[in-house]
Amino acid sequence: MNCNLTGKTALVSGSGRGMGRASAEELARNGADVVVNDIDETVVNETAADVRDLGVDAIGVPADVSDEAEVAAMVETAEDELGPIDILVNNAGVGDAGPFLNEENDGTFDLNLDVHLGGALNCTREVLDGMVEQGYGKIINFTSIHTKNGVGMSPAYDVAKYSLLGLTKSLALELGREGIRVNAVAPGWANTRLTEEFSDAVTEQILDNNPLGRFAEPEEVADAVAFLAAPASDYVNGHELRVDGGQVPIDSWQLDS
Ligand code: ADP
Repeated sequence: MNCNLTGKTALVSGSGRGMGRASAEELARNGADVVVNDIDETVVNETAADVRDLGVDAIGVPADVSDEAEVAAMVETAEDELGPIDILVNNAGVGDAGPFLNEENDGTFDLNLDVHLGGALNCTREVLDGMVEQGYGKIINFTSIHTKNGVGMSPAYDVAKYSLLGLTKSLALELGREGIRVNAVAPGWANTRLTEEFSDAVTEQILDNNPLGRFAEPEEVADAVAFLAAPASDYVNGHELRVDGGQVPIDSWQLDS
């Protein structure tokens, strides 16, 4: 299977930690140069240094993906230093959500849509001219277990991730003729700082509904990202690749936390 990414440049949003970071590292292991982005400046440079240790070029660029101007500046810096972006991974995300009936959560719709959908739109717009010009590109959007059947008590997150799935499907149709493939990776729950905060009761509830009985390692999700970035998946387009162990979505876990 050809997963060689030598000579390609990847931009991974929100890659300072967690699944984004693991994805940046896996792309680098397969030879890609990497632009490490995160809103959290403290993790960007450290991650970029670790990616460079894998033997590729990497730069860290802090930016808020929901801010158009910051994204434009980030892509300009990235392209100046590492050349046109061949692979875009829209991973940056927020976990903020809560039940629809709690009016205090009204603001979470804006935040979730701004970061997940708005961030993906901003990054995609900025790299697209270069991809069209070279007639090649891979765009990978992080959807979620939330796009399997919704996850109760987090409508803002559900809506944002379903909208990102819609963007994935739509752009796959529009951009295929330009040599650009657009796919999604849908992780279930993984060993990240989010799941570390779960109570034992919530963890048990999730794992009772997981055929493999465990969370994913971030690296297992990163493998799927690398596959969708690689020549091996050149005929895969508009697909949502689930990496969730067969997880059955649950509908009340946040109530128990
Ligand atoms: P996981 O660990 O499950 O992959 P996290 O929520 O911990 O997910 O990671 C998502 C990353 O996205 C974090 O490093 C976070 O700082 C980053 N992030 C959140 N919002 C933004 C944003 N607006 N722009 C860029 N990065 C962001």
